[in-house]
Amino acid sequence: MLSGQAAAATVREWMSAAASIAVLTGAGISAESGIPTFRGPGGLWRTYRAEDLATPQAFARDPHLTWEWYDWRRAVIATAEPNAGHLALAELERRFHGLTLITQNVDGLHDRAGSRRVLKVHGDLWILRCTACASEWRDLRPSLPHLPPTCDCGGMARPGVVWFGEGLPEETWNSAVTAVRGTELLLVIGTSAVVYPVGGLVQLAQSAGAKVVEINVAETPVSAMVDLAWRASATIALPQLIQSA
Ligand code: NAD
Repeated sequence: MLSGQAAAATVREWMSAAASIAVLTGAGISAESGIPTFRGPGGLWRTYRAEDLATPQAFARDPHLTWEWYDWRRAVIATAEPNAGHLALAELERRFHGLTLITQNVDGLHDRAGSRRVLKVHGDLWILRCTACASEWRDLRPSLPHLPPTCDCGGMARPGVVWFGEGLPEETWNSAVTAVRGTELLLVIGTSAVVYPVGGLVQLAQSAGAKVVEINVAETPVSAMVDLAWRASATIALPQLIQSA
């Protein structure tokens, strides 16, 4: 492990030598915007764990309860602002044309920070999808007037996110895999990398010969295998990557 300044200098050097860069973000990048992660402090809602609410079975059993939780998350996220980490990644995208941003987050903060092309492999909390006719629409209201919300066809809507046990959106996932397979550098930021298949992108990058940098406040299952484990918060580390050396 390197000190903050040495880590920043090393990553900047690797970035300037790389023809392509992929970035994988998780809930940790939004933690300092006040959005709780699933694991760690603040991860519980009432007495429920995310794994007990974000599943097709939970929704089938009690759609109102699952929607109450999502409605609470929408309200929390609506008051949050993108932080220095999101903003630095948007700036990196403007500077490096070969940058691909892949996020597990559903909060939309990368978009709000100005990132133009975000591969949302776990969907988007602001999209609703009809369980009857499958049509999708964007609804930015922080709190929905009626739970569960309904579609114009009368069907019940669900959040446009990927639940535990569900497949990932195929086109988005394929784009993420292609980007990671072809990248020379992968930055893994604020993710415990335990949710699969996304966690597997780290090994995929390494086996394809890329350098991998982890930016996280804590050790994770991938810390031991990456080329550089930078123990820092995203809001401290990422702005250092857009400073000149
Ligand atoms: P996770 O909750 O499993 O792990 C969060 C990681 O972030 C941890 O390793 C933690 O050490 C790290 N972290 C916390 N604060 C940090 C900071 N300031 N800087 C850097 N790292 C920090 O999250 P995950 O790996 O993304 O997986 C959980 C799943 O939960 C994902 O599928 C994601 O869709 C979903 N989720 C999304 C949001 C969101 O959209 N903001 C919030 C919670 C969970």
